[in-house]
Amino acid sequence: MKKQIVLISAALISGWVVFSSCNNAGGAVKLQEPVAMSSENSNNGKVNSVISSADPREKTTEDLLAAFKGETTASAKYAAYSKKAEQEGYHQIALLFKAASTAEKIHATNHQSVLEDAGTKVAPVTPEFTVKSTKENLQDAIKGETYEATTMYPEFLKDAESAGNQLALISLNYAFKTEKKHRVMYENALAALDKNAVKSLSVVYYVCATCGNTYDAAPPQRCGICMTGAEKFIKITSL
Ligand SMILES: [Zn+2]
Repeated sequence: MKKQIVLISAALISGWVVFSSCNNAGGAVKLQEPVAMSSENSNNGKVNSVISSADPREKTTEDLLAAFKGETTASAKYAAYSKKAEQEGYHQIALLFKAASTAEKIHATNHQSVLEDAGTKVAPVTPEFTVKSTKENLQDAIKGETYEATTMYPEFLKDAESAGNQLALISLNYAFKTEKKHRVMYENALAALDKNAVKSLSVVYYVCATCGNTYDAAPPQRCGICMTGAEKFIKITSL
């Protein structure tokens, strides 16, 4: 039985190696495929820049489509993670996931508006993700936010700057600044989970309806990212 498992594992590993090398070798063949946007795929930005058009305006359209897909997926994923956290008795973490889900939806809608205003049709996406334990879900969320805040959005912002696309810059910047904050909130939540101190986390979140900026305490009079008045914040205290 044990031997069987070892053999299966070996087969899977070698299969993976073959698959990866085929994937790399066949990269040029797949140029026609839409850019896969996944918060887990740290190569995405790189691949994207290799296959993209040299025209910065077209590149920005591709970036916004990828960001729309990523944010739509993140919103659905965090909503599912929120339910899982509640099931596991981590109410405070469930609220954090709900707040982040709400913010990502705002980012997706903003990106979609910029694209549609420029005449680009935005096809609906089917989010794909896996729900695991809350600890693993937090680790996944940190990985995703880190990729977006350190790689994806900085690259997309450079492209939008080159294209001189002011609306894209605004929309991408709202998301970029918010994801940096989400990353810290998820890291704090994971640290609290590890210390068995989840109950010390906030039980109220405020999400700016304009830019998705997220506060885990009473917000200032105006959003620190987009200056929207605090009366337009979405208050999250329950699931
Ligand atoms: Zn805001």
